[in-house]
Amino acid sequence: MSSLLDRIEVAETIAISGHVRPDGDCVGSTTGLYRYISENFPEKKVYLTLEKAPDSVQKCIDCSMIMSALELPEDIDLFVSLDCSSLDRLGDAAERFETAKERFVVDHHKTNAFFGDYNEVVPEASSCCEVLYDLLDEERISYKAAVSLYLGIVHDTGGFKYSSTSKHTMEIAGKLLDKGIDSAFIIDTSFYERSWIQNKLMARAISNAQLTEDGFVAYTVISQNDLTEFDATSADTDGIVEQLRLTEGVEIAMFIREDAENAYKVSLRAKKGLVDVSEISVMYNGGGHAKAAGFTAYGNVNDIITDVLSEIRKRK
Ligand code: AMP
Ligand code: MN
Ligand code: MN
Repeated sequence: MSSLLDRIEVAETIAISGHVRPDGDCVGSTTGLYRYISENFPEKKVYLTLEKAPDSVQKCIDCSMIMSALELPEDIDLFVSLDCSSLDRLGDAAERFETAKERFVVDHHKTNAFFGDYNEVVPEASSCCEVLYDLLDEERISYKAAVSLYLGIVHDTGGFKYSSTSKHTMEIAGKLLDKGIDSAFIIDTSFYERSWIQNKLMARAISNAQLTEDGFVAYTVISQNDLTEFDATSADTDGIVEQLRLTEGVEIAMFIREDAENAYKVSLRAKKGLVDVSEISVMYNGGGHAKAAGFTAYGNVNDIITDVLSEIRKRK
């Protein structure tokens, strides 16, 4: 039997993790599964390892159970990877994942490498939380697990507005609402609310943005100097690419953030899906979805921009 619940049933020691630089869907799905197992199977040992969750997410989800990968036990019966498309994206948890007795991948990335013994990958799903929900027994999802799953769906659907939001997504959201969660609070505090620093950084990013390819592409760059000037962290750039994507007439939004000298995190978004941005990201060893993908590129930023624009031009 290969369903997630069957594998959980027979495992005594279970570890959970998600992708590096976890976002709302990653934190939501991993903490949601952690709660589901620890509440319904109190006799099992369950561990969750993840990099630091965004502060905004922590306003809604208690993340105190998250531990460093170094604290994981050596003997793991079942390791569940969530919202993560490849082994290397598990970061420090990858080593323990590889040596676990059974590996289970739950994901919705189109570019998923099927790196588990079991792979539940549903590219049409709005979020990993949606895929996970369908693998669980809905009767046994608690209020706290519901908050986690709902938050993940909210984040990966951009507040229920991306085209990946299906009738099924809404049905799941409705069932999670039935658990008594405060939808408005979750959406406002974890998704829309921005700090003063984040707003200032957004202003800088938008004022420096360029419109090119006859208005088909909008892009902007945030440098290490910008981050230092505003006393901001890389997480404070969340939302910038989405603001560019909303520009009237723009099909592709590109946000470039300098993470280190000659190392740039590139986020791509497509509005209607005229260009599959995951294809371009894969060329740079990144990945993602047709309308939302990312990668890290090395070298001169102007060369990176020129190269990505030429890849977009080839496909439009
Ligand atoms: P981002 O641009 O970081 O918001 O990511 C957009 C989507 O692409 C998310 O689903 C990410 O999980 C995925 N993604 C971003 N960077 C990478 C990468 N280096 N490798 C694989 N997937 C990525
Ligand atoms: Mn994610
Ligand atoms: Mn996701």
